[in-house]
Amino acid sequence: MPSGERRIAFLMGVLSEKTILGILQRIAYGSGVAAAITNGGREHFAANNNSICSSLNPDGEYSAACAAFCGRAREMAENAGGTASFICHAGLKCRAALIPELGDKAVVAGRTFPNSAAYRTATARAMTGDWQHLDPVKLFENSPIEDSDEVIDKTATMIGAMITKAALAAEPPTKAQELILEPPPPFDRPVNESANEPVPPSDVDALPPTVEEVPSTAAFDNEEERKDAAEWRSFIASLSRMDYREAAEATLDTIAKSFGAGSVIWLDRSGDTLQNLCARGILSGRRVTLNIKPNDPRLVVAAQMRRPLELGERAKDGKQSTRSLQLFPLGSDDTVNAAIGVFGGLKNVKDAVKLSGICASLAPQIEILRLRDEVRRRDEISRAVRRFSDSLKQVDREDLWTHVAQSSAEMIGAERASIFINDERTGSLKLRAVVGAVNEFDVDLAGERVAEIVFEKAAPLIVPDVAKTGLPSVAERGYKTRSFLACPITLADRTLGVICFADRVDGLEFTRSSLDLLLMVAPQLAVAVDRAALKDIAGEFEQLSVTDPLTGLLNRRYIEARLEEEIKRSNRHGFPMSFLMLDVDHFKSYNDTFGHPAGDEALKIVGHVIRETLRGADVAARYGGEEFSILLPQTPGHEASAIAERIRANIENTKFPHRQVTTSIGVASCSAELCAAGPMVDAADKALYEAKRQGRNRVQAFEAIAPDGVIQRMNG
Ligand code: GH3
Ligand code: MG
Ligand code: MG
Repeated sequence: MPSGERRIAFLMGVLSEKTILGILQRIAYGSGVAAAITNGGREHFAANNNSICSSLNPDGEYSAACAAFCGRAREMAENAGGTASFICHAGLKCRAALIPELGDKAVVAGRTFPNSAAYRTATARAMTGDWQHLDPVKLFENSPIEDSDEVIDKTATMIGAMITKAALAAEPPTKAQELILEPPPPFDRPVNESANEPVPPSDVDALPPTVEEVPSTAAFDNEEERKDAAEWRSFIASLSRMDYREAAEATLDTIAKSFGAGSVIWLDRSGDTLQNLCARGILSGRRVTLNIKPNDPRLVVAAQMRRPLELGERAKDGKQSTRSLQLFPLGSDDTVNAAIGVFGGLKNVKDAVKLSGICASLAPQIEILRLRDEVRRRDEISRAVRRFSDSLKQVDREDLWTHVAQSSAEMIGAERASIFINDERTGSLKLRAVVGAVNEFDVDLAGERVAEIVFEKAAPLIVPDVAKTGLPSVAERGYKTRSFLACPITLADRTLGVICFADRVDGLEFTRSSLDLLLMVAPQLAVAVDRAALKDIAGEFEQLSVTDPLTGLLNRRYIEARLEEEIKRSNRHGFPMSFLMLDVDHFKSYNDTFGHPAGDEALKIVGHVIRETLRGADVAARYGGEEFSILLPQTPGHEASAIAERIRANIENTKFPHRQVTTSIGVASCSAELCAAGPMVDAADKALYEAKRQGRNRVQAFEAIAPDGVIQRMNG
């Protein structure tokens, strides 16, 4: 049959979809890279697909960006005379190939990151860029690093060969049939066991085993070494199912066993140092920090040269001790992110060479796991912060104190939290909220003492083990774990109090990252605490209420007091700060037309939009009537104008029940001439007046008012 006819026959179903998919799966899983069949805007099949591709194209329809690459696979291959290589918009390396039997379709193989830099770019997009909305765990589930042209090209070629063969065997065209195919030529690499896409058993069972384990070079002296190499390869492939820490633990165990090394340690980059993550033997349970930086040339070169670095221990008296650590870096381009240390070194040079080689093969896999962990952690953090901010928006709760403590504890992952607040009248700390404890007496003198220390020093404290601090022991205190975390709550220059956490939910120690998380929400926490404190005072003196009942925002009294405070701080430290005054345009006619209750409803919505648009530390208040004011600490004028513009635009774009509502906003920023509360409010007011004069629904900065405005300022 002429090939043209066969092509048509194929399209009519000479090969069942199941058969084609079976071929793709066998080859893709065997080679460890993805394989797909595409044409124009459609992807027909994909096997061992890169999770980036399935996340970006969940329903198989190409997004515009994918359409420009995999969507044009056929065209590219045709133009290049049969096959073409390309790197797509996601940074993935691909090979497109034409196969006569596929007619208007083409094969795309690869879809792998060519190097860890490309992988890192992708993780950055997931953390802070245009992929933030995608589920990061799904996104990186199966996204290998593979730069070998040979592997990728062979995948494409073999798919072509197998499809051709299957189509020939299927003649004359009958109904879809099971095919017995010869095994494909083996790849020079291990089976990728990471594949989490299930292979339909019916297809696979009918086929002979896929890829043989073949050593990559003929360098093995004997059968045993060959077997050993194969075991290591399948071990490395198995790591992709683990998280970073599990992989580190498993690697240490395997190394300890296979090299007879009793004391081994996994060191991990933390900022500018290499620190222990886990260890076996005499190094376990010890805090180890190496005196060598992750980007130290000796370490980087050792990684590139595939050899260990010998480190000697410096004894306490400064002399060189006899103990040594043989360090096997897990290299990447210019910084070593992890290293495996063998205490006392391996028995012989041959073992050291072998472990170096293993580390070189481990490195890309480990790098993937490390970055994957980082993406996941960042995602968890941003979720926690968002939850925290949202929960603090319910400001008018009765149990505000407990609510703040509870939300903070949930975010940090602590079972217990307590908040101590400075009582200005007595000059001592007073316990205001406890969560997780059976009763208040559980927060004993020790807790209070810690809070006092932190308050006096106005600096946070991470205690990994309370037993080493001279404070009462854990059992006496009724706590489950020995670690706690305490942090001052500060607003402007005032230390309002201290928040303490104990008993991490997962039973681990509090670390620098727990504190970092807390510091991320510190401004929001401080505003909430300050508000709760003022609310308490308001409870004592009813007339001192600080919240506006209609909008739930703060009121004029509060913002004027805060403005005074922030300006003082700004003057003292030279921090910038800005103040906005906002007024609803033509609001009288809104009231006149739709009634006062409708007007109230609109003001509520305006308040809501303002609150949603602001950042954590910003303070919004209803200044009076249809006027709002906003305090932006540590914000220079240009940034304040940008925020004002965002508020203006958000209100303009919000659907109100009766008609569109717009606002005008005046912006004033602290400067040498403008450094007191009264003049600052006047300046924002003048800018607001100017915005109205210029036609409303606009933002006006006081500094930018035309000459007559400047004269006003000088005279006023
Ligand atoms: P523009 O600011 O654009 O110059 O025009 P305007 O119509 O908004 O200005 P004006 O200051 O004359 O009117 C403000 C109106 O806001 C008067 C009053 O009807 C309304 N208003 C003030 N406070 C409240 C309130 O608490 N509830 C309601 N419903 N309306 C209020
Ligand atoms: Mg007004
Ligand atoms: Mg108005």
